[in-house]
Amino acid sequence: MLYPNNDFLKYTLENPENCDHNVGVFNHFDVIKDAPGVLRFEPNLTAKPVEDAKPISLVLSTGIHGNETGPMELVNDVVKDILNTKLRLAVRLLVIVGNPYAALKGTRFCDVNLNRLFLGAYEKYSGLEVARAIELERCVTQFFEKAPQEHVRLHYDLHTAIRGSKYKKFAVHPFVSKRHYDPSQFSFLTACGIDALLLSHQPTTTFSYYSYAMHGAHAFTVELGKVQPFGCNDLSELKHIDAGLRALIEKACLVQSDEKPMKVFKIIDALIKDSENYRLNIDAEAENFTLFDKGTVLAQSEKGMYQIEQAGDAIVFPNTNIPLGQRAGLVVREVKNKDLFCEPRVGA
Ligand SMILES: [Zn+2]
Repeated sequence: MLYPNNDFLKYTLENPENCDHNVGVFNHFDVIKDAPGVLRFEPNLTAKPVEDAKPISLVLSTGIHGNETGPMELVNDVVKDILNTKLRLAVRLLVIVGNPYAALKGTRFCDVNLNRLFLGAYEKYSGLEVARAIELERCVTQFFEKAPQEHVRLHYDLHTAIRGSKYKKFAVHPFVSKRHYDPSQFSFLTACGIDALLLSHQPTTTFSYYSYAMHGAHAFTVELGKVQPFGCNDLSELKHIDAGLRALIEKACLVQSDEKPMKVFKIIDALIKDSENYRLNIDAEAENFTLFDKGTVLAQSEKGMYQIEQAGDAIVFPNTNIPLGQRAGLVVREVKNKDLFCEPRVGA
């Protein structure tokens, strides 16, 4: 047994810096400990393929912010079921517990927000998360580079939000530039119970954007409700994404939803903290996707102000407790789903 009780999460939190690089050999797959909190599953290529299955290399990352425990518990249960051979494995799979030190402290991060450090952004920072960003980039790169050319590359980076949200579960789509949106990903996210999707307007230095930009993966940051301590999550609220991910792992297919599609928003501006007296004119408890009237002064500082351009524009991820120059929030505007798949640059 690789871990006592096949409990990958418990072992990772008890051994945040140790990795023996052991390999577990099972009937239909091998499991490799690539780094602390990083576990790679390689299905046996001689195993009989599932009918209609696409070859898939899937990254499931959790706990990039240490206090976002729900997704860590959800994915740990999936890992347990694979190791107990209750869940069949039909995809290559890399599972990541992103920031075990912060998880042990029950904080979002130790020194610096890990989800701002990818694509070389770590060079501008110092602290414990810098080494982890480099290590996670290396693990993901090795994983995708080992994938045969024809593999569909997927990365779902699972988070929970600091504050409440009008849409309880939502995902962030990477900036697509000249690439197209993929309707099967939209439908999969809908089937996973995701209520809203944000279309990025520029490249970022997040973990999911790293997989998109460097490895051509369909990659999403997925927000699954609100931060809770370990043991306090109601995982039944995540039953749709649990089912969607299990079907993906077991059958190598993206479950599609024929229900009403999720809301889609394009990001129109990033609010940047430009001064120590920068402030947002919203309630401390304002939910994500709170709407504003045209002309509302949303943010101000000695350097200037930000006014809402159009009625119905909304804010997501407001947070001014950040270093100067970092993002204090995103301003978003709803777009119609039907307009997205004919014009690749909508939301760009
Ligand atoms: Zn997060």
